[in-house]
Amino acid sequence: MSASDDCLFCSIIAGRIPSTKVYEDDTTYAFKDINPKAKVHVLVVPKRHYADVAELAADDPAELAHIVEVAQHIADDAFHGAFRLVFNTGLDAGQTVFHVHAHVMTGEKLDE
Ligand code: C5P
Repeated sequence: MSASDDCLFCSIIAGRIPSTKVYEDDTTYAFKDINPKAKVHVLVVPKRHYADVAELAADDPAELAHIVEVAQHIADDAFHGAFRLVFNTGLDAGQTVFHVHAHVMTGEKLDE
């Protein structure tokens, strides 16, 4: 669970790499995905470094619940509260950045 200088999302949270912030509080940061898969596609991440959602759930379930709350607020603003929430977990599931992140997709009617 240790943060490392070579973690891309730790660097984004620290402001060393630019991002388009949509939300921030003491524990959580949210920014626009650079390769959006929906009209509104935001990544919500805990500021503490966890590799994936299973690690986060085991260590800090309150933060996981908070990430869901932040997703809901983003969707309330963007698309009457409807959203898709995805945590790719593991290489073979398409996870490419190993700092847990919720993909929040909203802003339009999504394909089933
Ligand atoms: O779930 P996965 O690990 O594949 O998601 C990583 C996401 O991070 C991708 O959707 C990618 O577009 C996004 N990304 C980003 N900004 C970066 C690097 C990656 O929004 N600088």
